[in-house]
Amino acid sequence: MADVGPKLPRALERLVDRGPAALEEVDHDKSGAKGRPWGRVRPTHEGDLVALVRWAGPRGVPLVARGGGTSLDGESAPVRGGLVVDLSGWDQLLEVNEEDLWVRVQPGLINYRLQELLRPRGLFYPPNPGSWESSTLGGNAATNASGFRSFRYGPTRAWVLRARAVLGTGETVEVGTLTWKRSAGVDLLPSLLGSEGTLGILTELTLRVAPLPARRIGLLAPVPESASLGRIAQGLQWARREGLSAVEWVDARVASELARGVGLPLPSGSGALLLEVEVPREIVEDVPSRWERGLRPLGIEGAVRPFEDADGLWRARGKAGALLDAQVGPRVREDVAVPLSKWDALMEGVRDLARRRGVGLVLYAHLGEGTLHPNFAVPPSSSVARELRRDLWHLAWSLGGTASSEHGLGSLKAEAYVQEHGRASTRALRQLKDALDPYGILNPGKFWEQTDRAKRTVGPGR
Ligand SMILES: Cc1cc2nc3c(=O)[nH]c(=O)nc-3n(C[C@H](O)[C@H](O)[C@H](O)COP(=O)(O)OP(=O)(O)OC[C@H]3O[C@@H](n4cnc5c(N)ncnc54)[C@H](O)[C@@H]3O)c2cc1C
Repeated sequence: MADVGPKLPRALERLVDRGPAALEEVDHDKSGAKGRPWGRVRPTHEGDLVALVRWAGPRGVPLVARGGGTSLDGESAPVRGGLVVDLSGWDQLLEVNEEDLWVRVQPGLINYRLQELLRPRGLFYPPNPGSWESSTLGGNAATNASGFRSFRYGPTRAWVLRARAVLGTGETVEVGTLTWKRSAGVDLLPSLLGSEGTLGILTELTLRVAPLPARRIGLLAPVPESASLGRIAQGLQWARREGLSAVEWVDARVASELARGVGLPLPSGSGALLLEVEVPREIVEDVPSRWERGLRPLGIEGAVRPFEDADGLWRARGKAGALLDAQVGPRVREDVAVPLSKWDALMEGVRDLARRRGVGLVLYAHLGEGTLHPNFAVPPSSSVARELRRDLWHLAWSLGGTASSEHGLGSLKAEAYVQEHGRASTRALRQLKDALDPYGILNPGKFWEQTDRAKRTVGPGR
C-alpha cells in the first residue's frame, strides 16, 4: 500500500486530496524528476499553513511548496514523499500602489497574469521568464528566476521589496521594507529568494513595478555560424545606451523550430538574435535599419526584421521548450553562466562535451547576461546525464561562472551546491537552514543534501 504518512487532525485533513489524479498532478516537475507524495494540500489561508507546519515539524513530514510546477531540476518534485503544498489557488493581486510603484500579490499569481493586470495602468513587472505564462510569482521568487528583460532589469531578487513567509519553525516572518534600498545589516529577504522552498513558504510578496516604456520593439537578426557570440555579447553591452533591453540567441535548430512551430519569421539554416529595444514614441527613424548598421561591426550582416509586439515575441520564444519537448524529447536542460569574455570558450567546451559522448545538443542563450542553456538529448536522470552535468559545471566554474544562473539546483543538481559556494561558506549557510527549518521538513532531498553529509564529515568542496 502507498505510504500516506501520519494521520492529520481533521481540520487539516479536509484540505488534503489523496486521489490519484491530484497525486499525479503534483508528483513531478518539468524536469521529469518524480516523487511519491502522500497528498496534495490546498491551504485556504496562512493560518492553515501555520497549523500544517507546526503539525508536520515534530513528525518529520516533508512539505513541498508548489506554484506552477515548471521547475527544471526537480525543485518542486516531492522526492522524499510527504505533502505537496499547492499554492496555485493563492492567485490574487491584493494591492497596487501607483504612488510608490509596488504591488502586493499572493504567491500563486501567474507572472503573465500580473502583466495583464498592470498593462492598463501603464505599468509592468520586469522579470519575465520563458515560463511566464505558467509559472507563479512565488515560484519565481523561490528560484530567483530571470527573464528575457533581465538584461536591462536584473533578476527577481532585484524586484522583491518584502515577503511574508511561514518558516519551518511554524513562525511567520515579514522581511523587507517598502523602500527600494536598504542597508540595515544582514538581511533574511535575499536568502529566502532562491531558497527553493527550503527555508520558508512564501505567503505574500510585495514587488516593485516599473512604468511601461513608451514603445518597445522586437528585432530579429540572423547570426552566421562563424560569428563570435562572445564578441556580440560584449559589443551589445554598450547598446544599453540605445535602449536595448533583451538579448537572446537561439541556434539554427531552435530558430527553425520557432519558425515552424509558432511562425516566428526567423532565417532558415542559421542561428538568430532576438532583441528588444525601448524607444521613445516620437522616434520615427526606421529602427530596424539603424540596428542593421549597428550590428554589422559585430559580424551580423543579414537583414534585421522588426517584430512590433515585443510581449508577443517573448510569448513565442517561451514556446521553445515545449517545441523541443515534442521534437527532441526528454533532455538535460542546463543554465550555466560565465563572464562574457569567456563565452566563446564555454561554447567550444560545451560542444566538445556533447561530441565526446556522441550526444545531440541544442543551444539557446540569454546572451546579454552570459547565460547558456545547453540541452543535451539524454534522459535527465540517466548516468550519462549526471556525468554531462558534472563536466559542464566544472567547465563553467573553471571559466569563473556558475552551475545555475536561473533555474536553481533542485534534486538533479544538488551536488553542485557545496562546490559552488565552498565548504566554509556552506557550513555557515547550513546553520541558517537549521535555524529556520529545525526539523528539516521543508522540501527535503534538494540542494542541502550534500551539507547533511558535510555536517558529519568534511564533504567535497573547493
Ligand atoms: C518552458 C520553460 C521556460 C523556462 N524559462 C525560464 C527562464 O527564462 N528563466 C528562469 O529563471 N526559469 C525558467 N524556467 C524554470 C521555471 O519556470 C522557473 O524556475 C520558475 O520560477 C518556477 O516557477 P513555478 O511557479 O513553476 O514554481 P514551481 O516549479 O512550482 O516551484 C519551484 C521552486 O519554488 C518553490 N516554491 C514554489 N512556490 C513557493 C512558495 N510560495 N514559497 C516557497 N517556495 C515556493 C518550490 O518548492 C520549488 O522549490 C522555465 C521553465 C520552463 C518549463
